[in-house]
Amino acid sequence: MLNLVLFGPPGAGKGTQSEKLISKYQLIHISTGDLFRAHIKHQTALGKRVSALIAEGELVPDEITIAMLEEEADKNPQANGFIFDGFPRTVPQAKALDDFLESKGSAIAGVIALDVDQEELTKRIAQRQLETGRVDDQADKLKKRIEEYFDKTIHVLPYYEAQGKLSKVNGIGKIDDIFNALCAQVDQHQK
Ligand code: ADP
Repeated sequence: MLNLVLFGPPGAGKGTQSEKLISKYQLIHISTGDLFRAHIKHQTALGKRVSALIAEGELVPDEITIAMLEEEADKNPQANGFIFDGFPRTVPQAKALDDFLESKGSAIAGVIALDVDQEELTKRIAQRQLETGRVDDQADKLKKRIEEYFDKTIHVLPYYEAQGKLSKVNGIGKIDDIFNALCAQVDQHQK
């Protein structure tokens, strides 16, 4: 199995690049942000529980997020592999993911971090807010998301670095150039 984590701050381009990677490598894309938004849209019990947190730009508690992720992965027992996008966002999530994959006789092959500076991120998200109207893209909510990223999520990087699984790709430039750089990293992890 080829299991990858695509890592990066809000607006780094994880969603865009995941779509391209899944089609090239025949992987299943699991975006916890997309899953939460679908729950909210369909007004499920889970959606009702998390909608206020997400609107404020806060992280959903690990327990809820991990259970949702595992349930989604279990829907695809025949997968060639997964791209995890927006997960793990905390060290306990990263540990839970390792344990979960190990229980299936699998593991994370590599973690690719998309590197984009703060100025560019702010520009991209302002644009996305205009296009999609995502409430958590509004400036004050975005500020909270970026705080959560630097407070909790950034610590996931040393966790994977210690396992020798982390690589970085410049996330600024043409979408296809970034994609090619990502593929070069994926091919390394596949060896
Ligand atoms: P972004 O565009 O900021 O990368 P996502 O679409 O991945 O955002 O996630 C949107 C929101 O969903 C997050 O701000 C957070 O509230 C919630 N969320 C998504 N993934 C996780 C996670 N792994 N742990 C906790 N909360 C999450």
